[in-house]
Amino acid sequence: MIEIVEKKNCSGCNACFNICPKNAIKMKSDKEGFQYPIIDLEKCINCGACERVCPVINQKKKTEGRKVAIAAYSRQEENREESSSGGIFEELAKKIFEKDGIVYGAGFDEYLNVVHKPVKNIQELQELKGSKYVQSDTKTTFRKVKELLEEGRTILYTGTGCQIAGLKNFLKKDYTNLYTCDIICHGVPSPKIFQKYKEKIEEEIQGKTKDISFRNKANGWNQYSIQLTMKDGQEYRQLGAKDPYIQLFAQNYTLRPSCYDCKFKGLDREADLTLGDFWGVEKKYPKFSDDKGTSLILVHSKKGEELFEKIKNNLVYQPNCDLDFAIQNNPCIVQSVKINPLRENFFNDFGKMEFDELSKKYLPKENHIKKFKTKVLNQLSLLKRKIIKNK
Ligand SMILES: Cc1cc2nc3c(=O)[nH]c(=O)nc-3n(C[C@H](O)[C@H](O)[C@H](O)COP(=O)(O)OP(=O)(O)OC[C@H]3O[C@@H](n4cnc5c(N)ncnc54)[C@H](O)[C@@H]3O)c2cc1C
Ligand code: SF4
Ligand code: SF4
Repeated sequence: MIEIVEKKNCSGCNACFNICPKNAIKMKSDKEGFQYPIIDLEKCINCGACERVCPVINQKKKTEGRKVAIAAYSRQEENREESSSGGIFEELAKKIFEKDGIVYGAGFDEYLNVVHKPVKNIQELQELKGSKYVQSDTKTTFRKVKELLEEGRTILYTGTGCQIAGLKNFLKKDYTNLYTCDIICHGVPSPKIFQKYKEKIEEEIQGKTKDISFRNKANGWNQYSIQLTMKDGQEYRQLGAKDPYIQLFAQNYTLRPSCYDCKFKGLDREADLTLGDFWGVEKKYPKFSDDKGTSLILVHSKKGEELFEKIKNNLVYQPNCDLDFAIQNNPCIVQSVKINPLRENFFNDFGKMEFDELSKKYLPKENHIKKFKTKVLNQLSLLKRKIIKNK
């Protein structure tokens, strides 16, 4: 049976929880807010299925496949604006819907926890669009996906590299009706920290969050902002470079322990396609210099090639890009980020301190929540909107 001796050896993919024939495994949050499997020894029959399915224990031998890197963005302006990079995810999803298929990806539950969920059409897809900088809980989606594949439904499952590897191990065999797409992944932050941050913003702004965009492009793709929209219409929007939540993520305080030693990076992956930001693209390929978002697409398999062929007429793209250049500008493609040397202190304080005390202790002044300024700005913009409405 599975035993987590070192936390860095569990990515929280949920494959063990999904496979257990006796439902003996529960996923429980630790004090940092990350979920790990806990086994009920009364129910466990010691069949070993959980150990055999774990993608960290059973890493597949990587194949030296063909490396194809493409720079691209969707021709649909609205899609590109709403997406974190070039809007490739929506273009892929539309092809799956044409086959009456189902798309899985990271969305929100009623409490704005990030969870994996299925969508069946373009309206529902809205919720899965955009990067959520919080670890997504895949719940029991692997079980459901297996059922749907056996029924012959076409599925596109998207997520982090570790989630795709967990799904593939869970399914055990290759299904012709399954497509998978992972992301270039910096690492995933703790859901508990995100909830603390959200509550702090709500307290400051005196509202209740309705919607969150982690990658708002109002100031451009390179200078993205985080935006929380309240039920009453108020908004908190701050540049990623100034916002404490984004900075704790970017400075590698809040990531899951497994992300500092990620086993799912590299050019040979389990997924058919990998999507990321093509940072620096304008320096090498000037036609992508409009700062509205360009994706890097890595194609790993025949199915990946087939999907790309189907969407390419909807894209502005550059095939056969310089992969070394892409990696230089986005090292997360191939290597894990370095742990912040103060991460342990940070999480020790996390149990005892409020969110703004933590950010004051661990981040420079420009990253603290600016209480008065934020509130006034938002009240002003609300007032402006009311005035516009009343005209
Ligand atoms: C936590 C995280 C870290 C990232 N780090 C990098 C990085 O270092 N370098 C880089 O180039 N790109 C990174 N990305 C990916 C990138 O920001 C875009 O999501 C990706 O390029 C797809 O963009 P898009 O415009 O095609 O579609 P979008 O609509 O912007 O993206 C939607 C896709 O992202 C998936 N997704 C969103 N949030 C999560 C989540 N929490 N867990 C799993 N899947 C999620 C959805 O399932 C869907 O497949 C990261 C994304 C996340 C969520
Ligand atoms: S990595 Fe996935 S399968 Fe392995 S122990 Fe963690 S949750 Fe279970
Ligand atoms: S960095 Fe690796 S282990 Fe962490 S979420 Fe991303 S793919 Fe998974």
